[in-house]
Amino acid sequence: MTQTTTNKSSTKGGSTTPAVTTITSQNIKLFPIDQDLNGELAEKIHYECNFCGKTIGLYPLNRKICERLSGDQFYCPFCLRNRFNTRNNKHILILSFRSLVGYYYYEKYAYTHNREVWISEIMDFMESHAAAGLVNPLFSYDPESMLWFIDFSKVGKGRKKVKVAEVLKTILSILTCFNINQHVTNGKLSKFYLKYEEAILKFYQQRYRPEDRKHLIPTLANCGIYENKKYSLENTRLFTPAKIIG
Ligand SMILES: [Zn+2]
Repeated sequence: MTQTTTNKSSTKGGSTTPAVTTITSQNIKLFPIDQDLNGELAEKIHYECNFCGKTIGLYPLNRKICERLSGDQFYCPFCLRNRFNTRNNKHILILSFRSLVGYYYYEKYAYTHNREVWISEIMDFMESHAAAGLVNPLFSYDPESMLWFIDFSKVGKGRKKVKVAEVLKTILSILTCFNINQHVTNGKLSKFYLKYEEAILKFYQQRYRPEDRKHLIPTLANCGIYENKKYSLENTRLFTPAKIIG
């Protein structure tokens, strides 16, 4: 890599000649991620995103960039990149399927003596559901939080808009990746799907989300499963890949 930059100027015979420094991959200085520009150890500070609610640890350099772009309230890099820090974010519905992945992880791997799935399978579920959802350009996905963001400003009947049925089709296509009927004894895929459908139609028509449930993350409660006392189904709503232990 070679890049040329001007950093100083010198005066020769009344005319100014810029001094030129050549930056090459040999003389460029790289900083470890946990050091600041003075070479001192930098502290990671955790922030909560004002839109998606994700808690993220940032080193000073990244922090400054995010703070600068965020304004008064902090937004994570994912939300800034997708412009979810603007007033238009009222058209974005945040939802997730992570309670389902959390259920598989706790019920069939972490809190059982007879493991029915392996971590590699859980990873496969996460990857395949991401691939299925990203087929639809209205859907954005943050793999760190497992949150999906659907842009409803482009859903409707007008020009350059797609019908809400296309959103629901993608939801169904994501859900089929989890093989619920095979992996969840007495599991009722249709009941689980209806939790998404009902909330999505309400958001589409009224931009409505309950005050205490900003994100749409249904659990398998009342979908035919037996509840395990070792963990609460409510906790599966908070599952993220970071919860997976070795
Ligand atoms: Zn965010």
